[in-house]
Amino acid sequence: MANKNLPKVAYFCMEYGLDTSLRTYAGGLGILAGDYLKGAKDYDYPIVGIGIKWKQGYTDQKIDEDGRPYDTYHNYKYDFLKDTGVKVTVKIRQRDVVCKVWEVTEFGNAPIYLLDTDLPENEDAWITGQLYGWFGEERIAQEMVLGIGGVRALRALGIDVDVYHFNEGHALFAGFELIKEKMDRGMSFEEAVKASREEIVFTTHTPIVQGNESHYLDRLMYMGANNGLTLEQLVSIGGSPFNMTVGALRLSRISNAVADLHKETANKMWAHIDNRAEIIGITNAIHIPTWVDERMIDCAVNGGDLWEIHMDNKKKLINFVEERNGVRLDANKLLIGFSRRAAPYKRSNFIFTDEKVIDPLLKEGKIQIVFSGKAHPLDDTGKEIVENIVRMSKKYPNSVVFLENYDMTIGAMLTRGSDVWLNNPRRPKEASGTSGMKAAMNGVLNVSTLDGWWPEACNHGVNGWQFGDGFESEDEKELDAHDLKALYKILLDEVIPTYYENRDKWVEMMRNSILSTKDQFSIKRMLEEYYEKLYIKH
Ligand SMILES: *Cc1c(COP(=O)(O)O)cnc(C)c1O
Repeated sequence: MANKNLPKVAYFCMEYGLDTSLRTYAGGLGILAGDYLKGAKDYDYPIVGIGIKWKQGYTDQKIDEDGRPYDTYHNYKYDFLKDTGVKVTVKIRQRDVVCKVWEVTEFGNAPIYLLDTDLPENEDAWITGQLYGWFGEERIAQEMVLGIGGVRALRALGIDVDVYHFNEGHALFAGFELIKEKMDRGMSFEEAVKASREEIVFTTHTPIVQGNESHYLDRLMYMGANNGLTLEQLVSIGGSPFNMTVGALRLSRISNAVADLHKETANKMWAHIDNRAEIIGITNAIHIPTWVDERMIDCAVNGGDLWEIHMDNKKKLINFVEERNGVRLDANKLLIGFSRRAAPYKRSNFIFTDEKVIDPLLKEGKIQIVFSGKAHPLDDTGKEIVENIVRMSKKYPNSVVFLENYDMTIGAMLTRGSDVWLNNPRRPKEASGTSGMKAAMNGVLNVSTLDGWWPEACNHGVNGWQFGDGFESEDEKELDAHDLKALYKILLDEVIPTYYENRDKWVEMMRNSILSTKDQFSIKRMLEEYYEKLYIKH
């Protein structure tokens, strides 16, 4: 087989979104990782994943009687994980922490090995308790399990690796383990860093400065995350305080941002960092069988009635909403979908900003909107946004719906059954976004600011719409006012009239949407690019 000679890759990620039933993901990063490992299996690439078996996963969102979101946690048990029989040990806070290694192959994915500290012999059994649940010490402990434990697991499993791919900075401590292995064999620190860098590639995801985790050096030393390195050696890698992204940029041979625009943003963000890897752009993509109704692709390619299949998906969504929320939406009215993490920069409740504009549209039933999305447990602003949407759903019970506890099932239903996929992040804060790709390939038309992946795909008025013309401003008030005007204009002048008055054009746009995205944003293209531009040395 041709792929047998390709570099063997170990892909490290904090989260994997493979299926709704395996609660090891929070959002886009995990979905991307899950889709990537499924693609690796489909196209027979020598890639394995390293991750964590989270006992409680990410938060489960509930909405209380007053319409406020709150966080609940459950201990999840899985009967489909395979026990590899392998255990590795990582010293954390001077105590040995045993990590059991599970294998997941259940979801049509290349093997993923999940480390788990929830064992009777561990005093620190809770380290792998909650995904993104804790900060400070516990986060460092989790990252030590992923990074240091992950490399040790690969050794214990006897898996050969040519390239270590850190998907986000969380995995950086794996680099420390690779350095330590080499120093134990007699290399100097400088030689070990140089040799390790040749094996490491890195993907950066977050264009928000605060999203790039950093830790106090004393705390890293106290935790044992330095893994034998001195304070000065740590500083030479990640600065002080120690920044995980900076460290990963300095410890990798090459790195990538996740869209062309994000490449520009990331290079500006890290321009001041010396001695770092080049940041190229490789745009994210999706695993089509997971997300797309392939009848739509067949129909767009071979001809046929796209509208009929779309209406089938729309009715399925309407039934799903009725089962969940008791609200019966109207299949003949424009249905706007919006589901993503309720991070403030994504502006989930943006469309409600000027009620004078939106009130008549909702009252007359010109538009219906279905929302879903969780705020991070410590993100009060995100929670207020959710609360605001829930309030609107009570005010407009027939045209606004909030589905609680966003997950892959909701994501798939909405990106298939909506008519329009609304995306309004503050440019350039959305690194890529993949839900819009799912929508586009299902013939659900994107209405989006020119952020993330959309500038690469958008053919305005042909396969979807942009609004805001790529405007950027440090002044959030100014940016919001600019984008809001543009959003209302595109809705009132283009989207709503086309939907109700020019169905032929709408269906033609659906066809264009599918045909223009199905290859460019499929995981197959992304795997090819990762091999060509990151993994294979030229
Ligand atoms: C696709 C998907 C995401 C990522 O979508 P974004 O556009 O990046 O927000 C996040 N969560 C779930 C459940 C998804 O299905």
